[in-house]
Amino acid sequence: MMYIDLGIIIAILIAVIPTIIISGAVFSDWLYRSLVFLVISCPCALVISVPLGFFGGIGAASKKGILVKGSNFLEALSTAEIVVFDKTGTLTKGTFKVTEIHSKEISSNELLEIAALVESYSNHPISLSLKKAFAKDIDISRVSDYKEIAGKGVSAFVDGKKVCAGNVSLMQDNGVEYLEPDHPGTAVHVSIGEEYVGYILISDEIKDDAAESLKILKSLGVKKNVMLTGDSKSVGEYTASLLGLDEVHAELLPADKVAQIERLNSETSKKGKLVFVGDGINDAPVLSLANIGIAMGGIGSDAAIEAADIVLMDDKPLKIAVAINIARRTLTIVKQNIALALGVKAVVLIMGALGMANMWEAVFADVGVSVIAILNSARALNAKNLPNNR
Ligand code: ADP
Ligand code: MG
Repeated sequence: MMYIDLGIIIAILIAVIPTIIISGAVFSDWLYRSLVFLVISCPCALVISVPLGFFGGIGAASKKGILVKGSNFLEALSTAEIVVFDKTGTLTKGTFKVTEIHSKEISSNELLEIAALVESYSNHPISLSLKKAFAKDIDISRVSDYKEIAGKGVSAFVDGKKVCAGNVSLMQDNGVEYLEPDHPGTAVHVSIGEEYVGYILISDEIKDDAAESLKILKSLGVKKNVMLTGDSKSVGEYTASLLGLDEVHAELLPADKVAQIERLNSETSKKGKLVFVGDGINDAPVLSLANIGIAMGGIGSDAAIEAADIVLMDDKPLKIAVAINIARRTLTIVKQNIALALGVKAVVLIMGALGMANMWEAVFADVGVSVIAILNSARALNAKNLPNNR
């Protein structure tokens, strides 16, 4: 508004002032010049092409299954400096397979049944795989007082007895003595009352494109790839060694993940951005805390999709690199548009004020440059020919 108002005022001044102060000045000449000035001063090209470039970028991303919730996130993504990953469901598939059932006092089948029962209300990837392994209908009327202890496990009353299922820390909290499994994997320890009834060993698979994605991110200028997990140190470090991460932090509760993000946030440079990628299970607060929160749209919880700034519909970590490439190309296009619009306008504006530009040049500076900028913005929509595209 201000820009146009100022333009009109200057145009009126151009028409009136010289006619008054310059002897022999012809009013119609100066009126023409002022109209030329008015046409050029209209900010169309700038106003149209900048948002259009970003819309193009958002469109290209959506063609690749990347939902970007605003152009500001695209701009921020272009200077990603630290990328922090959740483990389960983000770098790993989150579909655990039961590899070993080690029961005490009760049979393996009973252990699996009690675990499936106590997990009946949870939608944690671990819980889903235990229920899948049990593969029978669960009578939820046997379960009451269900509680989810974030980052540790679950507890509930099954047939009137308190049952806990979760990691070592949950067993310690309940004063239950547990066995250390002798094979690698995530152990779900189960207790009935005070009594330990065994563990179920489950293992997750690393996503096919995880290691490659981390490498590509490095080649795009990301300084540090970090993994945060609530899982045990042994599983966390083993996964990290397969993937090649710069930093790993394990056995974290949701609040510890927040603390880690705050620490890493202070490590970024002024322009550099912190990206957090997660599935939202126990990490929704971190998703909203990071400069850019990226959620897995398939495996991720509704809370994650809601809290995130960018959603990867197909859960592939490789799409982070694709999104960064789209973001950088979009920004280049937007900057070209700004330079073109302002540059041509400035030249023709000065020429117009000096009486060296006619109406046709003014129309080109306005409509012509707008058209060129719009065509340039359309390039941002192209989802092909990007590096690491798949
Ligand atoms: P991550 O940070 O790797 O995504 P979470 O914070 O979701 O992991 O969970 C951390 C740990 O807490 C798990 O590795 C598991 O040991 C335990 N846990 C969490 N939820 C459950 C559950 N529903 N059943 C059993 N164990 C659980
Ligand atoms: Mg998780």
